[in-house]
Amino acid sequence: MGILENAKHSAERAAVSAMADRLLKKLNDANDYSERTEIYLEIVDLAEKFYPEAKDKIASVREYVSDPNHRWMRMINHIIDDADPHYAKMMLLNLGYESFFRGTKTIRENRKKYNCNIPWLILFDPTMACNMHCVGCWSGTYGRKSSLTYEQMDKIVTEGKELGAHLYMLTGGEPMVRKQDVLKLCEKHNDCFFVAYSNSTLIDEELCQKIQKLGNLSFMLSIEGTPDTNDMRRGAGHYNAVMNAMNLLKKYGIVFGTSICYTKANVEAVTSDEFFHMLSEKGAHYGFYFHFMPVGNNAVPELMPTVEQRKYMIKRIREIRTEDNDIEFFPMDFQNDGEFVGGCIAGGRNYFHINSNGDAEPCVFIHFSNCNIKDHSILEMLQSPLFMAYHEGQPFNRNHLRPCPMLENPDLLVEMVHKTGAYQTNEESPEEVEHLCGKAKDYAEKWAPVADEIWASQTHKRPSYENYTKEKREHPELAAFEHADGSNHIDTDINAKEQANQ
Ligand code: SF4
Repeated sequence: MGILENAKHSAERAAVSAMADRLLKKLNDANDYSERTEIYLEIVDLAEKFYPEAKDKIASVREYVSDPNHRWMRMINHIIDDADPHYAKMMLLNLGYESFFRGTKTIRENRKKYNCNIPWLILFDPTMACNMHCVGCWSGTYGRKSSLTYEQMDKIVTEGKELGAHLYMLTGGEPMVRKQDVLKLCEKHNDCFFVAYSNSTLIDEELCQKIQKLGNLSFMLSIEGTPDTNDMRRGAGHYNAVMNAMNLLKKYGIVFGTSICYTKANVEAVTSDEFFHMLSEKGAHYGFYFHFMPVGNNAVPELMPTVEQRKYMIKRIREIRTEDNDIEFFPMDFQNDGEFVGGCIAGGRNYFHINSNGDAEPCVFIHFSNCNIKDHSILEMLQSPLFMAYHEGQPFNRNHLRPCPMLENPDLLVEMVHKTGAYQTNEESPEEVEHLCGKAKDYAEKWAPVADEIWASQTHKRPSYENYTKEKREHPELAAFEHADGSNHIDTDINAKEQANQ
């Protein structure tokens, strides 16, 4: 950004900050959730004034903001109730203003300008070190030694911001092993929001006090059902550590959610009414569910949910999200909610991952790369061959219940990795792409007819904005699974497309 642009941005942020103080006070003083509706509508009107170009997007926000019983509004109200006032303001500024409004605009411009995917979220692993040894954990398969330097993390955020990304998720490994550097990063980039996927064990009183002052670091805590199902996979005493962390975060008004990996062994335990109620009472009002992925040579493919269990997950998660459900927890399913984000979001379409060695991977589960943060910029990573193959191939399947080039369309990842010459990023225990995708073949074949039947039985609205290539937007029949000959491969020749784009 130039000097003038910087000054304009600072003045605008200061104005939004003053407004946020006033509006958050009104929200906290409101007698009930219905009284808050007027204040939310005031915020939406102000947003429209600031960003008239986002009129369409804002209109849909206005629709659900008007209804205090809407599931999103119930979740937001709980967050406002629980959050420390300064923390709530930082969320509004960094997630609302910087990421949602300014970021979206910049990202869309850059997608056109650079002809590649530009994400609104970047994941990176501060370290692969972890103080735990969970059964089937893919991150342990990288080995436990590598870490990003502070300077490399700073480079990721600085360059990501230039492209419009203001949301950063820290994975690993246990990110809190590097808590001093993470806090330093949050302090320097106080116009960004950071979320750490954590095992809870290193969250203490002193850390919470620091985060409360910063206001821009949140957590997704790993938990897997009852004390028994949780500790069976994560080790004795882990459940208690999560409870302790939740108590502390709630005490300091730090917003947090959960990160739950569902497996054949725990599907029921992590979706019971009791479990959801417990999470919401502890202060977690939203959470991500991740389908177990058989990644790594040590993976236990037997832990993959059965077809019946996956069907159950789709039904169960959606049932919890209906307005008449009294559970105050909003679950999101990374594998089954593709419909709301246009399918696979990896390869920088909405997000990508940089591992603790610095390799740029299209997805946290896909351990292949063409480049590294040590000698490439973020933009070069997004334009690297494997990321461009994602860009050209997405959506990998027009049935968004089968979004993944590895899990549900395993031939596609094999093809992309060979075509782009991507190297394996797991130095300690390299896994051939055929070995990885081979573990998903049987699963994909069994899931396909069931997923197609479910998809065909539902109605699906086509979004007004789809960040696929121009060809895919204008010709949805070009999607990978729709080849007339029934084959399942990527339809566009990457090199020819690159030349055409120049
Ligand atoms: S690569 Fe697979 S797991 Fe990763 S975002 Fe895409 S669909 Fe999801």
